[in-house]
Parts: sequence; C-alpha cells; structure tokens
Amino acid sequence: MEKKFVMHFPPVLVDKPIISTIVRKYNLEFNILKAFVSPEEEGTLVIAFSGEEKNVFDAVEELKSKGVKIQLIESDIRMIKERCTDCSVCIALCPTGALYLNRNTYEVKFEPEKCIACELCIKGCPTNAMISTI
Ligand code: SF4
Ligand code: SF4
Repeated sequence: MEKKFVMHFPPVLVDKPIISTIVRKYNLEFNILKAFVSPEEEGTLVIAFSGEEKNVFDAVEELKSKGVKIQLIESDIRMIKERCTDCSVCIALCPTGALYLNRNTYEVKFEPEKCIACELCIKGCPTNAMISTI
C-alpha cells in the first residue's frame, strides 16, 4: 500500500538522516513529492511511503515519537475531463506539477501520483472540473 503524508521537522531534526534510517528499518520505499525549509529552519516534506501497511504506520509512529509532526493526506482529487476547458488556470496553481499541459494536444492533464491534495485547483477551477471525492 502507498500513503502520502505531510511531515514537519523541527529545526533540531532538519539535518538528521531520519528518513533514510526509518525507511531502511521498516523496509519501505519512499518518494519525496515536495520539500522545503522555512526561514525559521523548520523542514516540511510531502512524502509517499509504500510497503506493508503495518510497517508504514509503525514508521510514522516512530517519526512522531522523535518530534516530527505528521498529517496523513487522505483526500482523493479527481479531474472531470468533460467539464475541463483546458484553460490552464490550475497549472499555475498546482505546487507539485500534478497538472500540466500536453504540448502535443494542448490538453491539460492530471497526474494523481504527484497530487498532495492541497485543493488549490478546486478553488481556482472556473468550471468545477477538479473535485475531491472525500
Ligand atoms: S482550471 Fe479547470 S477548466 Fe481550467 S484547465 Fe484546470 S481543470 Fe480544466
Ligand atoms: S490538489 Fe490540485 S493543486 Fe493541489 S497538488 Fe493536487 S492537483 Fe495540484
């Protein structure tokens, strides 16, 4: 199974190899979808963990016990293509590149694997083509 999380690391943990240690310990694969450090040096990661369900949640519990604040991303974002006019407004709003322009067809495409469910496209789409099903 794969689950996506937003993780906030306090400054004291930002330069520690905490993720690599945890993925080795729990035999997980991971994909970092977004990462940044704020001026206050708090680190934020949007990350997908995949592996055995128990291992994913045990890893999350261990990270929490070390001081990492973690939110599970549960929203399920979909594009209703019949409503989409390919206006491209959502592309500029999407922070992860999950919405992009196909340069051959000039169609706006949605790649769910890159979506972090921030819902900015839902708020910005003039035709309600982007929806959350949760
Ligand atoms: S903002 Fe809405 S209508 Fe415009 S390209 Fe994105 S999904 Fe389609
Ligand atoms: S919710 Fe919309 S704007 Fe946010 S990451 Fe997903 S596709 Fe991009």
